[in-house]
Amino acid sequence: MSETLIVIEPATAQPLQHLPRAGIEEADAAVARAAAALPAWRALAPGSRAGILRDLAEHLAAHLEELATLEARNAGKPITSARGEIGMVVDTFRYYAGAPERLLGDTIPVAGGVAMTFREPIGVVALITPWNFPLAIAAWKLAPALAAGNTVVLKPAELTPLTSVRFGELAVEAGVPAGVVNVVVGPGRTVGQRLVEHPAVGKVAFTGSTEVGASIAAGAAGTIKRVTLELGGKSANVVFADADIAAAAAAAPGAVFDNAGQDCCARSRILVEEPALDEFLAALEGAVQAITVGDPLDEATVMGPLISAGHHATVSSFLEDGAAVAIRGSAPDGPGYWFPPTVLCPVDPASRPATEEIFGPIACVIPFRGEAEAIRMANDTIYGLSGSIWTRDGAKALRVARAVEAGNLSINSNSSVRVSTPFGGFKQSGYGRELGPHALDHYTEVKTIYFRTEES
Ligand code: NDP
Repeated sequence: MSETLIVIEPATAQPLQHLPRAGIEEADAAVARAAAALPAWRALAPGSRAGILRDLAEHLAAHLEELATLEARNAGKPITSARGEIGMVVDTFRYYAGAPERLLGDTIPVAGGVAMTFREPIGVVALITPWNFPLAIAAWKLAPALAAGNTVVLKPAELTPLTSVRFGELAVEAGVPAGVVNVVVGPGRTVGQRLVEHPAVGKVAFTGSTEVGASIAAGAAGTIKRVTLELGGKSANVVFADADIAAAAAAAPGAVFDNAGQDCCARSRILVEEPALDEFLAALEGAVQAITVGDPLDEATVMGPLISAGHHATVSSFLEDGAAVAIRGSAPDGPGYWFPPTVLCPVDPASRPATEEIFGPIACVIPFRGEAEAIRMANDTIYGLSGSIWTRDGAKALRVARAVEAGNLSINSNSSVRVSTPFGGFKQSGYGRELGPHALDHYTEVKTIYFRTEES
């Protein structure tokens, strides 16, 4: 081990835990352990692998409060949100525990015999995860990867490694054989990069910035690794004048300020049809002022601090250059990386706050005129992850949802992530799909076997 990693608690700016920091050698050792564990794990009877995943889900459920408290402190998120996220981790393992016995193939009639397909595991899979939803995003990758018979090396973000490290311990306690799950805590530019280039790794599943995603795709190309990328977003929340404006305004803050805006699905561009702009802004003001920002461990807290001092500086930079602040909520003073929920209006649609992913609690409200302009503005971004459409006209809602270039849309709602439905991006928000039945396609290879049956 080369050095010590000091993990900081964002709400206090004080050290929370010290950990040994892995380097290239530890990354290589983790890949070797995963490769050694692969033959036995993939050869387990499907029902046995399913049983281990079910046991793991129940063991995680028994440790829900411990994991939620660790996540709340390390990532600075409200304890109520952290409980929801760990609950989703449990549900993700429960869902994919059904997969080993349902990895079905096809039989295809061909001349002289029959062809059949099998879904084979890829092998050793590297999972590189971000700091915003640490264990939830790891579980979206871990559960389908393991269900399909792969072994894994998980590299969490150095800012938030604690629940991933604990997960590794809980997996062994629950009966996952040694070497099947390996957690390596080290820097992305060394340990992450090594996993991306390691010849014994068959696939990299990554969530994080579009910039690092591009470098991972380039690094993986040298060994023709499979790659899935879940990257940034600049999603539009489109509110038509015929919508329930009170409901749309009441829901809008949660869609962008949840997790202090550090959410790839954040609806950070709120596009409002011009006749409804004043009514919407008036209703939004009350909803933003009602957000309680404070101690993540307080049950009443709705929004915590930003993740780090460096990220606080980045988010603050979006208020330079004379941004017009229309609404500003409150936040604690003192230590911790606090930032109040902030709404900008008017905003130049070509400005930095309106075009770049802020990943903090700053929303832009921008008026539009008519359906065609709403679609054009929603699509005027390099990203395509999620978005919402608010209207009482059902046909218009579906027309606009089909026209918006994004992977996950909601109508008269802002929710886009469910364990049982596919999740992923269009354009520079990435490729591949997580969750739902589709995730398994990205952790398996299709093998075709021809069986000659005609007599010679
Ligand atoms: P990064 O993309 O840098 O980090 C994500 C993960 O990738 C971390 O585990 C990181 O390791 C690792 N990593 C970094 N560089 C490499 C590399 N060269 N090779 C392999 N792995 C690497 O995100 P940041 O934390 O820097 O956040 C920056 C911005 O990215 C945010 O402001 C936001 O805009 C966006 N983002 C989007 C997320 C999403 O959910 N789509 C999640 C997080 C960020 P480590 O950090 O430990 O060095």
